[in-house]
Parts: sequence; structure tokens; C-alpha cells
Amino acid sequence: MNCFFCKAPVENKTASFMKEIDGRYFIIKNVPSQICAQCGEISYDDETIQKLQDIIDSVQTFTEVAIINFCDKVA
Ligand SMILES: [Zn+2]
Repeated sequence: MNCFFCKAPVENKTASFMKEIDGRYFIIKNVPSQICAQCGEISYDDETIQKLQDIIDSVQTFTEVAIINFCDKVA
């Protein structure tokens, strides 16, 4: 697989994913991702994106920042 932007090869790594919804921040750690060695662009496969959405939908939080470990949610 190559980078969508610069066409350089990407590496499989884990990264933190952050999303803000209505002023609340969801930080999901250890997300499997493909990171471009050249430009640093991070991309996720469709399955991972779906899991991220499921995690965010399932998390009930009343704090401004929720920190979730991806591995805990998909094991
Ligand atoms: Zn790139």
C-alpha cells in the first residue's frame, strides 16, 4: 500500500486518533494505522474506521475528554 498523497510506501503502526464531537474530545490510543514514512499522513482501513465509530458511539462520558484504548475495545 502506498500513501494517498505522495505515493511513498506506508508503514503499519499504531497511532492515536482524536475526534471532537460537540465540544467533547475522544482520544483513542493504539489504533492500527498506516503511516507514510515520507509525509506523515495517517490513514486507516475501513474496518478500523468502523470500529472507531462503534467505540465513539458506545462511550458514554460526561467529561470533556475521554481517553480510550483501542485494544481494550476490540479484544
Ligand atoms: Zn505520504
